[in-house]
Amino acid sequence: MSKQSIVPVPADADERRSAPPVVVYPVETLPSADLTLLEAARQTLTKVSEVIVPPREASSFQVPQGHFFRILSIDGPQVGDLNLWNAADLSERFFSGKTRALHATHVGVGDRLWSTLPYLRPMATITYDSLGWYGWDDDGAGIHDVIGTRCDPYTNRLLKGSDYHHCCHSNLTRALAAETGMPLEEAEMHVHDVLNVFMCTGFTRDTHQYFMKASPVRPGDFIEFFAEIDLLGVLSACPGGDCGTGHSSDVAACYPLKVEIWKPDPAALANWTPPEPNPYPRTHR
Ligand SMILES: [Zn+2]
Repeated sequence: MSKQSIVPVPADADERRSAPPVVVYPVETLPSADLTLLEAARQTLTKVSEVIVPPREASSFQVPQGHFFRILSIDGPQVGDLNLWNAADLSERFFSGKTRALHATHVGVGDRLWSTLPYLRPMATITYDSLGWYGWDDDGAGIHDVIGTRCDPYTNRLLKGSDYHHCCHSNLTRALAAETGMPLEEAEMHVHDVLNVFMCTGFTRDTHQYFMKASPVRPGDFIEFFAEIDLLGVLSACPGGDCGTGHSSDVAACYPLKVEIWKPDPAALANWTPPEPNPYPRTHR
């Protein structure tokens, strides 16, 4: 049933509904990544470190500016919830909402992960995605969404009346606290809306509700990012596993994820210009 079904329909309803959609942010002037330069740099990569994210837990990692990082499926289909910060200033963090508004509900190669106001600059650029073939399926779903926020124990309490301590929000909080030495309550305030790595999601056609379906990710698949600034990352291996059934419980089969840090030949980035914080003067008048 439509939410507006009890109100009268105006005579010109069809005319009003037929206004053409206008893309909110015409992105032709958006600073775009130099994918040719980044592709050349990718050909010179050397792996410098790796981190395993245990199932239903999170792990932190650092990526120096100008390095690449990969998130890999290793043992089985698994979704990851990613938080990113400026490693030198945690007040600059990933801005899921603006990334969605500028690019799309799901991100892929060439899209950037933008930082919060007042910085609003690319933190990372997606340079490879082995699931890029998926596109949009017949349910309207895609991969790597910036729609969902992260599973969390507060929503779980609201909906189920019970507590679960391995939601992505809690996993991210514990891992950030361990990385920084902050108390949990302080670390929690830095946790933010995520990039849902490998998650397959969309909106139902009839009610426009957020839905998930089993991720098509398989061991060997990976998504790769170029670090535009020094990054602190935390990745949670979601308790939903492939998110094909449920989450916020120990029911789903869960697998580890791997994060790899790769260094390019510095000469390959000789013509690369790092992004500065947004130059708007913050006068607001
Ligand atoms: Zn989760």
